[in-house]
Amino acid sequence: MDADRVVVALDVGGTGMKCALVRPDGVAVRTERHPTDATRGPDAVVDTILDVAVGLADKARADGLTPVAVGIAVPGIVDEARGVAVWSANVGFRDVPLRDLAVSRLGLPTALGHDVRVGGLAEARLGAGRGAGHVLFVAIGTGIAAAHVVDGAAAVGAHGAAGEIGHIMVRPDGPRCGCGRPGCLEAVASAAAIGRRYAELAGETVGVVTTAEVAQRAAAGEPLAGRVWQEAVEALADGLATGQALFDVATIVLGGGLAQAGDRLFDPLRAALHERMTFHREPRLVAAALGDEAGCLGAALLALDALGVRDRQEKR
Ligand SMILES: [Zn+2]
Repeated sequence: MDADRVVVALDVGGTGMKCALVRPDGVAVRTERHPTDATRGPDAVVDTILDVAVGLADKARADGLTPVAVGIAVPGIVDEARGVAVWSANVGFRDVPLRDLAVSRLGLPTALGHDVRVGGLAEARLGAGRGAGHVLFVAIGTGIAAAHVVDGAAAVGAHGAAGEIGHIMVRPDGPRCGCGRPGCLEAVASAAAIGRRYAELAGETVGVVTTAEVAQRAAAGEPLAGRVWQEAVEALADGLATGQALFDVATIVLGGGLAQAGDRLFDPLRAALHERMTFHREPRLVAAALGDEAGCLGAALLALDALGVRDRQEKR
């Protein structure tokens, strides 16, 4: 009976939802993707979330599996204790009681989590931070956000907003951040910010040269790309050094689009972080291992934790 149990897991993003049936040992037995189409408004997105979850639960039963819980990850500010999607810029949630809606629609215990925090949970327990105990997961894409995971649990914060490392001020005279302040880490060193900065200095339209191309041009010796890349690396190192001063982790796991630059990012970033360590112990700096499935797996872990089956999952 135990081997037949699965969790219905969904990771809801601004453009797409990654969905899966996940076994208690953290293995996904079925995966699906669906468009979010956030322009339809939050009510329509909620309907889609619930329809997809019901569909997955039905497929589990058809395959002889027993869905025992639902885990949903969403972006923005998430009140995990109340199960409420408090606020989200790219999906439009405003105080949506997603957990209760899922419970009444599916009749299964449901956990609601923050996409980056559960992604960090998955990387810390099943991915690149496995075995480290104290892990800082940093997702670098359009923005920058983090999850601080200690012994397999991600800190949520008093208001559901822990981990906003992207809004550490690193350059007081830097570009204005989406949050309204100047010089936030994500305004300087996110993948989006790197592309913008290069376009600005090169006198090109934003978006013509991708951030991956900036990395390639920097590696090929183009001075302007090299300068923009190094500026971003130095800012990231400042942000990570602040994170390390606060959390003293064993491992920093970098995920998101920028981490796919590989050694072009990790080699100079390790060196820059090393320079910033004084009495602090230098963390291991590694690339995420679970790719874009981390959020979905993490949503499943959160649901399993709520059921109290975490011990079994970690002893596999
Ligand atoms: Zn900011």
